[in-house]
Amino acid sequence: MKRALSSCVAEGAEGLRRIFDQVKNQSRCVYGYGLSHPAANALELCELFGFEDLPRGVVSNYAPGHASLEKEREDQTCSSFFRHTPGATSPKSIQLPPRRVIWKANRTKEDHQKFQIALASAEQQKSNTLQPNPEILPVAFFGIRSCDLRAMHTLQNVFDVQGQGVPKSAAEMPLLITASCVEPGHNCFCTSFGYGPECQDSDLNITECFVEEEVQHNKGSESALEKTKCEQGKTARKQIFVVDAHTTRGRPIVEALSKDQHLRHASQHETALLTATLKRSQQRLKEFIAARVPNEENRSKVWAGADIAKQLRDQARSKNWETIAESCLSCGNCTMVCPTCFCTTVEDSIDLEAQRSERTQVWDSCFTAGHSYVHGGTVHKSTPSRYRQWMMHKLSSWHDQFGESGCVGCGRCTTWCPVGIDFLASAYQMTKGVE
Ligand code: SF4
Ligand code: SF4
Repeated sequence: MKRALSSCVAEGAEGLRRIFDQVKNQSRCVYGYGLSHPAANALELCELFGFEDLPRGVVSNYAPGHASLEKEREDQTCSSFFRHTPGATSPKSIQLPPRRVIWKANRTKEDHQKFQIALASAEQQKSNTLQPNPEILPVAFFGIRSCDLRAMHTLQNVFDVQGQGVPKSAAEMPLLITASCVEPGHNCFCTSFGYGPECQDSDLNITECFVEEEVQHNKGSESALEKTKCEQGKTARKQIFVVDAHTTRGRPIVEALSKDQHLRHASQHETALLTATLKRSQQRLKEFIAARVPNEENRSKVWAGADIAKQLRDQARSKNWETIAESCLSCGNCTMVCPTCFCTTVEDSIDLEAQRSERTQVWDSCFTAGHSYVHGGTVHKSTPSRYRQWMMHKLSSWHDQFGESGCVGCGRCTTWCPVGIDFLASAYQMTKGVE
């Protein structure tokens, strides 16, 4: 695993707040995982107006067809910030909005037979190509994960291949502050594609670690370090954030914070702790994946490459699709939460007085009958046929179209499938090919 030359450390919640504030000062809008309202039972990618909007002490609990949040502990002193995994929405929802008006037409006052057409501005049109919307520029993402970043690249690649990509200046690129997944969810399988749980290609990556230390009482002293500890008998839990800058946009943040002594170089012990934390996370992922893909060979080598693409292609006419998709409702939830699904359709609307009309681009799903409607008929009439289309596009034909996998292993489709169809387990079942 390639690592930045020297990691830095911010201590406790106050240290993380300094990093957040530094990012916030540079960005008009900061997006990250948060709770849309206090009683929400799932995280969403939303605007973080301040440090307090980060979901502190929240642990996600995901299983096939199940998503809930748990409160970590009452004591807020050492509550974690990044023990959850990504929520239902992803950066796609910001950069390729679910609804976008393409044009509006208003009947002119002078002549009722004529219309004035207003196209979406050039900048708004660009927002369809992973170009941040000018009204929210410059944007920063804070605490997103390696699968999110991978999905952003995957989506950008789609638009580039389709000729919709537009050149971006460095200032227009979102600032990417990622967080390592220290507690991967049961449905995650990013490591099957050769990345995660740490992120190596963001501007800055943060790994949250906890150190158990012996308590040393210094009467009257209330140092910042002591405030980061929460006492449990004779030991205290100290929270640190290991920070790695990977780009020329990330390094100035580290330099500015180091100058003000809010960051310092990681000690040998802290570097070892970081390695142990990431190893533990990798091991957890390995176990979750092994539970669904028992075959070691399939687990280790095929998912990101052409092998899986070929294995699924060989099964294109298999009857097993009927079994795999037996309980599928064709609801399209999986495609809505998938961070790389990019299909859209258009809706036209007109006001009741027939004075105004508009055309809106909205997300579409390959699970609808209309999605494959061609020349008076729907190609994918049955649910198994739609399920096959969905899985084979993600893991097989995406390779032919865009030269890589269309799946990033985030597990969202499994979590938010109402009947709990496990995408990874189903793909593995299909590759076995026994009918
Ligand atoms: S197919 Fe499922 S696991 Fe893969 S990227 Fe989409 S939502 Fe995530
Ligand atoms: S796989 Fe699950 S989420 Fe996707 S369409 Fe079928 S029932 Fe809905």
